[in-house]
Amino acid sequence: MNSAASGEVPRLFGRQVGRSLILGWLVLLCSALAACGPTPAPQIEITGPTMGTYYAVKVVQPAAGLDTAALRAGVEQVLAAVIAEISTYEPESELSRLNRNPSTDWVPVSANLYRVIAAGQRISALSGGAFDVTVGPLVNLWGFGPEERLDAVPAPEQVRAALERVGYGKLELRADPPALRKQRGDIYIDLSALGEGYGADRLAAYLDGLGATNYMAAVAGTMRVRGTNAKRQPWGIAVEQPTPGQQAVQRILPVTDQAVSTSGDYRNFFEADGRRFSHHIDPKTGAPVAQRLASTTVIRPAGADSAMMADGFATALLVLGEQRGPALAESEILAAYFIIRDDAGFREQTSTAFERLHAP
Ligand code: FAD
Repeated sequence: MNSAASGEVPRLFGRQVGRSLILGWLVLLCSALAACGPTPAPQIEITGPTMGTYYAVKVVQPAAGLDTAALRAGVEQVLAAVIAEISTYEPESELSRLNRNPSTDWVPVSANLYRVIAAGQRISALSGGAFDVTVGPLVNLWGFGPEERLDAVPAPEQVRAALERVGYGKLELRADPPALRKQRGDIYIDLSALGEGYGADRLAAYLDGLGATNYMAAVAGTMRVRGTNAKRQPWGIAVEQPTPGQQAVQRILPVTDQAVSTSGDYRNFFEADGRRFSHHIDPKTGAPVAQRLASTTVIRPAGADSAMMADGFATALLVLGEQRGPALAESEILAAYFIIRDDAGFREQTSTAFERLHAP
């Protein structure tokens, strides 16, 4: 797909790294695209900060009465609600209060918090524990959580102590009424690998409720798209080339009525002793994964929780690495696109389900 013809949105990552540059690039590219080709349908487009990164929403042919200000107010209300539920960066969120609660008895949780943790537990089981929402103590120890960022390798005894607290089997869930029981009082849950997707799903539900039938709702590198773009074509989602400090497009994926999520190791990392340590932690070793798989993109049919599951699976596949990641994509029939570093730069690998989706 020609990027100039598709009304696309670049896939972008990162928390603090180059945020204003990223937003500026997004806005510039989108404006340039809107200026090309046949007369586009009317569209409202908003972007703004959220979750330490950004959101971007486009609604094509908005219903009468929906203007930019109303859309922004509605979108930001949805995102604020998500933060109040599942953010570890917001001390008074429901999740932060749960993390501070030392109880090992059943603790009632909201249906929404249950929904996100339960999704994480499903992906944990399917990935053999490569994905694990209890990995938070290690994420924080390595400086990738809400605490101070040290950009230093922790001592082995600190890693061992944090590992004691990690293990998705140490969490028990009850659906009705929703509740959770920790095996240890100091279990700490980190939902960052699912949160952008959960946010995109909540935005999609909000837009569906407004009667929108052609839209794109993204939280950083995870999005839901419905219908077509302003040029009445599938949305074009650009997957970034996984090169730190640069913004180049590796491939543009045409999507419609789908959820898309990319996880990468090239924006959120630090370097020490000549090695790069990224924010994806292997819950078995307690250390950031060190491998050649640089980026994974997962596409799922749109539906409740589809962006959240795409988000979680993209992280799981990345932690699993270049051998076991593609194997899980095959066994779970996931449409997955991998970018792997090699001596010549990068090589791409795709799952069978992805090939079927993008067959000519
Ligand atoms: P993904 O690949 O989607 O997820 C990687 C993240 O998952 C890691 O950073 C880690 O937290 C976790 N993780 C690492 N290893 C594993 C594993 N093996 N299994 C499961 N999870 C793992 N950031 C800020 O800087 N400031 C904020 O105010 C802020 N607020 C947030 C609010 C919410 C509601 C959420 C969900 C996140 C917030 N974040 C904030 C974090 C940030 O937005 C990203 O979610 C985070 O950096 C990871 O997203 P990603 O797409 O880069 O990586």
